[in-house]
Amino acid sequence: MTRAVLTLNAGSSSLKVALFPEAGDLPLATGLADKVGPDGVLHLKDAAGGTIAAAGDLTTHAGAMEAAIASFRAQWPDLDLLAIGHRVVHGGADRAAPVTVDDAVLTDLERLAPFAPLHQPHNLAGIRAAIDAFPGVPQVACFDTAFHRSHPFVNDTFALPRALYDEGVRRYGFHGLSYDYIAGELARTAPHLAEGRVVVAHLGNGASMCGIQNGRSVASTMGFSALDGLPMGTRSGQVDPGVLLYLMDQKGMSAGQISDLLYKQSGLLGLSGLSNDMRTLEAANTPHAAEAIDYFVFRCQREVGALAAALGGIDALVFCGGIGENSRQVRARICERLGWMGIEIDHAKNAGNDRVISSDLARTSVLVIPTNEELVIARAARAAVGLTKEAA
Ligand code: ADP
Repeated sequence: MTRAVLTLNAGSSSLKVALFPEAGDLPLATGLADKVGPDGVLHLKDAAGGTIAAAGDLTTHAGAMEAAIASFRAQWPDLDLLAIGHRVVHGGADRAAPVTVDDAVLTDLERLAPFAPLHQPHNLAGIRAAIDAFPGVPQVACFDTAFHRSHPFVNDTFALPRALYDEGVRRYGFHGLSYDYIAGELARTAPHLAEGRVVVAHLGNGASMCGIQNGRSVASTMGFSALDGLPMGTRSGQVDPGVLLYLMDQKGMSAGQISDLLYKQSGLLGLSGLSNDMRTLEAANTPHAAEAIDYFVFRCQREVGALAAALGGIDALVFCGGIGENSRQVRARICERLGWMGIEIDHAKNAGNDRVISSDLARTSVLVIPTNEELVIARAARAAVGLTKEAA
């Protein structure tokens, strides 16, 4: 019997899947259904990176999920699915841990959709599809917001009238599954740092930073939405709210148009006029591509400083995410101006993508730790069905 848990991450037109054994960190298989719809494609790989044959109806998330499962069953005919873990962007003000989904939970999570209209409905559609396809298999929701529920009030609020805070207009913070994984890895491999003040920079297509003290999130660059803070591939990061008033008042832009501008046309893409992809910009050699990288690096430096202030100092800086794990140039440039906080990288270690890239004598450690959100979800799914005591 192949006893396993499945993890699902349902986006607007994509579905990421991973099949994990009942214990251990390595998945049996991973997959991505891209462009879910008439042109949907599904790529599944086994643990050795070999392609698993996959076909089926990819016009909906439910169809893509069933196609993935059918392929897994062909590969492992004795597959016994114990639980399904889901990435869900928003858990609301009170959920600080994963939760097993029932009707009441689903209804409550639906109420949060207005807080994350671009993501929450797709995440919940994924849960509903999984319930239909696998009735009786526990469904576990893991939230991007949960890790940040330990923020003190001053990092949880805006200076707006109290009634808005009470109805949920708060600084939730996101990328929590990634930060949870990094905090766990630090506790396992560098407990002296895990007990200290750590800034984690999750720099991918979406980008944010988190200040963590003794394993708990103290502050995040993201706030009410996943727009705030650092510039991202196509998202703006922090903008003066006065700009939005100007766009509405003077240019007559609607909420939908502004949303499109902030989520899809800004960030590295907006500034460079070329691409949202850091690799493309690094290779481009145009003045606007260079300025987009300059702005990204500058905002990263600024936010490391801000989070160190929130933490009352800094013992370690950790890079993760596609850019953080791979771009030697961006890491080196961010660290270049942070010498005043004891950050000094060893360029050979940085070029070699080592796990520790700070120089031996530096006061503050700098690490590169590949993140693993799927594993955090798989652990939560296992814990929910009593396989382990681990929780995400
Ligand atoms: P997502 O937030 O969608 O999960 P990723 O974490 O995969 O995104 O990060 C994607 C980003 O990582 C892209 O900007 C990509 O260019 C960048 N990236 C990946 N590999 C490299 C590399 N070798 N050098 C520079 N940037 C890289």
